[in-house]
Amino acid sequence: MKDTFKHRGLRRQLLLELKEKGIDDQKVLEAINQVPRHLFFLKNFEQFAYEDKAYPIESGQTISQPYTVAFQTMSLEIKPGEKILEIGTGSGYQGAVLSKLGAEVHSIERDEKLFHRTAQLLSELAIPIKCYLGDGTKGLPSQTPFDKIIVTAGAPDLTDALMQQLRVGGKMISPVGDKNVQKMILAKKTSSNNYSYQDLGTFKFVPLIGEHGWKN
Ligand code: SAM
Repeated sequence: MKDTFKHRGLRRQLLLELKEKGIDDQKVLEAINQVPRHLFFLKNFEQFAYEDKAYPIESGQTISQPYTVAFQTMSLEIKPGEKILEIGTGSGYQGAVLSKLGAEVHSIERDEKLFHRTAQLLSELAIPIKCYLGDGTKGLPSQTPFDKIIVTAGAPDLTDALMQQLRVGGKMISPVGDKNVQKMILAKKTSSNNYSYQDLGTFKFVPLIGEHGWKN
């Protein structure tokens, strides 16, 4: 698993592209610079790893577009030591970026094949993410409360079960819409039962499937 001079050069190009698209958080850009995205790719797509695009991974899922990863991360204003819940581990790339920002990352994946493959990869790369196999729409009651929650699949609604697992003052970001296109919603928990919401624009994710998500 090599990270060559060429890969590092391509990563710098990608950073310039992200800056041009409005990602201006230096810490987020530096975290992206530290994660060799090609290592999270299927071999036959590896050459495209530094394009700002989503690509297929196992089980018909996708590794999110770098801009989307940067955007969701930047919107959550992650601070070192914060406890983060990620729904949809997928390739592990988004979790790795959060981890490079110094967050304590807990990540849930529902697909068993992806869960095993990604947990193994993260361990080989010594990226300390706690991976769980299960339905992320139910959150992780054993680890609550979380400072931040990031949903990386398209939900039909803001999942109440997840919002309840945020600490007061915590934030959750989730794409919400239909199965093809969603609005990126940033919710802030202002008191134990109150939230404020911001619509941050249109994105496209694979569906969030589970008890409080789509039913397949
Ligand atoms: N964060 C990922 C990355 O960096 O590669 C991108 C994830 S991909 C766009 C969405 C992932 O969410 C898929 O791996 C899918 O299997 C997973 N997923 C969908 N519904 C889920 C659920 N209820 N619980 C956990 N994972 C789920």
